[in-house]
Amino acid sequence: MEKISNRIGLSIIVPCYNEEEALPIFYEEATSVLRSIGINYELILVNDGSKDKTLEIMKELSDRDNHVIYLSFSRNFGKESAMYAGLCNAKGDYVAIMDADMQDPPSLLPQMIDILETQDYDSVATRRATRKGESKIRSFFARSFYKIINRISDADIVDGARDFRLMKRKMVDSIVSMSEYNRFSKGIFGWVGFKTYWLPFENVERVAGVTKWSFWGLFKYAVNGIINFSQTPLVIASFFGMFMTAVAFMMLAFIVVRKLIFGDPVAGWASTMCVIIFIGGIQLFCLGIMGQYIGKMYMETKNRPHYIISETNRKETEKIR
Ligand code: UDP
Ligand code: MG
Repeated sequence: MEKISNRIGLSIIVPCYNEEEALPIFYEEATSVLRSIGINYELILVNDGSKDKTLEIMKELSDRDNHVIYLSFSRNFGKESAMYAGLCNAKGDYVAIMDADMQDPPSLLPQMIDILETQDYDSVATRRATRKGESKIRSFFARSFYKIINRISDADIVDGARDFRLMKRKMVDSIVSMSEYNRFSKGIFGWVGFKTYWLPFENVERVAGVTKWSFWGLFKYAVNGIINFSQTPLVIASFFGMFMTAVAFMMLAFIVVRKLIFGDPVAGWASTMCVIIFIGGIQLFCLGIMGQYIGKMYMETKNRPHYIISETNRKETEKIR
């Protein structure tokens, strides 16, 4: 029989990369909220190869508070891997994922738990109510990304959705079972389905430290998301191919007819070059799209671990993947 004391009500997963300034603030705030709820909880801090004192802080916290579990990666594997490591090792009936920088306010937790307890939902997800405090260009690209991906994939991705969400065990299990190497959590959450309650909240600034996202990083993340959840780019590539072939046929017919009727020698080296370069460009573009998919397949077939844990205070890491 399962011992009651071993059961964990709530696991909070916190991916941390160079968060020495924000982590102590987050810990204090989260702990006071969790204490006030009076739930049996564990705080899973995942050190994603930080180069500052993040790991030391985690160790210190775990020494004085046995709610704190830390998993420390051997290098920086990225937030997706950190979230996955947390999910694989979380024991709670409820599991939440939160950023360390206080942009996911712990004060929302009681309300989120209450929704899962009293209403028929499997998960409570948060989204920013507005894009206030973000540059115009960034907002524009973000919005376009959500429009495109929702149109061409079957993952239902909500504009402004954060990774901050609280889930029931069955949803966590199904996410863990999606062990793909190229992870795009915003898509995975939507893809597994389940009933989700969307909680909007006003965007807050990072409490300390700096964001780890550059514009280029976000762009790559967006392309990654599209490739991971849609095959439409491949369809576009074949469409280009068909379209160009049709155009070429028409041009051929035109030239043959003109030659027969007018006997015109075909002049124009320049126009020929333009067409060749144009077609060459489209071919390379389509090859590039295909290459993206093949590259992903290559990484998937290698079956590499998602992360490597070099240090932890958890006795039995559930799965070291
Ligand atoms: N993070 C991580 N690994 C990374 C980058 C970020 O674990 O390679 C963590 C980071 O410590 C933070 C969260 O992911 O807790 C969100 O990162 P950040 O605040 O930089 O992103 P933003 O909120 O600006 O989107
Ligand atoms: Mg942040």
